[in-house]
Amino acid sequence: MALREPESMDECVYFTNRATEKCKVRAWVFREQCPKCGKGLMGKPKDSKTGRAKIRAEEYECPECKYNVSKDEYENTLTVNIQYTCPKCNSSDEISAPFQWKKIQRLNEETGKKQSIDSIRVLCSKCNEKIDVTKKMR
Ligand SMILES: [Zn+2]
Ligand SMILES: [Zn+2]
Repeated sequence: MALREPESMDECVYFTNRATEKCKVRAWVFREQCPKCGKGLMGKPKDSKTGRAKIRAEEYECPECKYNVSKDEYENTLTVNIQYTCPKCNSSDEISAPFQWKKIQRLNEETGKKQSIDSIRVLCSKCNEKIDVTKKMR
């Protein structure tokens, strides 16, 4: 399966590129057409003064018909594309999954404590190893 890759960040709702010693993961989510009018690409509403998208807005808006939907509701309907190199079997593959963050218990290697992190988990197509795309910590 060959995934379409973004040509610019403007096409994406989300993009991340992670590489550790063992695991390489790239994940991206395309903006999609407005579900109401089908003409506009949904995006963050623009500031009427500066004309720039309000990146921190908790909602998305269609530039054509002004259809407005909350960030969580909108993002849950999208698909995340994930390109990975498996840390266990070293094979590379591409996979699509629902763009839905789930809490996953992980061991924090620095503190040695378990913590729950918002992640999107997929399984390696060869060996079923769990591959997590974790939300960036703030
Ligand atoms: Zn629209
Ligand atoms: Zn594997």
